Amino acid sequence: MHDDSEVAVLRLGHRPGRDERMTTHVGLTARALGADRVWFPDNAGQSLETVEDITDRFGGPFDVELTDSPQAIIRNWEGRVVHLTMYGERVQDVEDEIRDAHRTAEEPILIVVGAEKVPFDVYEEADWNVGVTNQPHSEVAGLAVFLDRLFDGRELERDWEDADRRVIPMETGKRVEPADEE
Ligand code: SAM
Repeated sequence: MHDDSEVAVLRLGHRPGRDERMTTHVGLTARALGADRVWFPDNAGQSLETVEDITDRFGGPFDVELTDSPQAIIRNWEGRVVHLTMYGERVQDVEDEIRDAHRTAEEPILIVVGAEKVPFDVYEEADWNVGVTNQPHSEVAGLAVFLDRLFDGRELERDWEDADRRVIPMETGKRVEPADEE
């Protein structure tokens, strides 16, 4: 979130058609749960448009970009790299260390999630390979749990800027108001 050092998400791999919703949901989840930005592979332009559209309507700040060289982003990242993988160390065993790096040492964090098979270089370049359980599931679920652990729930309280609408929480029903109305 913008009161801390940067948290970015990198989506590795995108199979057009098949991965459209997953890539979009990686971006929407990164935005909703406190990351500052996401990079998608350069063939995921449609997912980029959807995430930009949601940010325009529901607020930010949140940045979404395409990259033709995801591994260069990892190599050049000036901070720490967390790769989410079912083969990694248990999140509950490493979360304190990662939170210390982020909050106390103010290190920017890059969170890498895959689609299909992730190249072994990524496992070697990461500072932490982290499993959200060691069971196979989804990059969206792994990212959501990891961000909530990283921010310790503070992401749920954040304010949104430049939204043109906001949802009014209610027990039953759906209410959306223009964002400038109190
Ligand atoms: N089979 C692929 C491999 O061996 O790299 C992974 C495919 S999985 C559907 C897609 C992505 O979901 C992974 O790259 C990882 O980022 C994420 N993922 C799946 N299960 C996970 C887990 N238990 N913990 C953390 N991330 C997970």
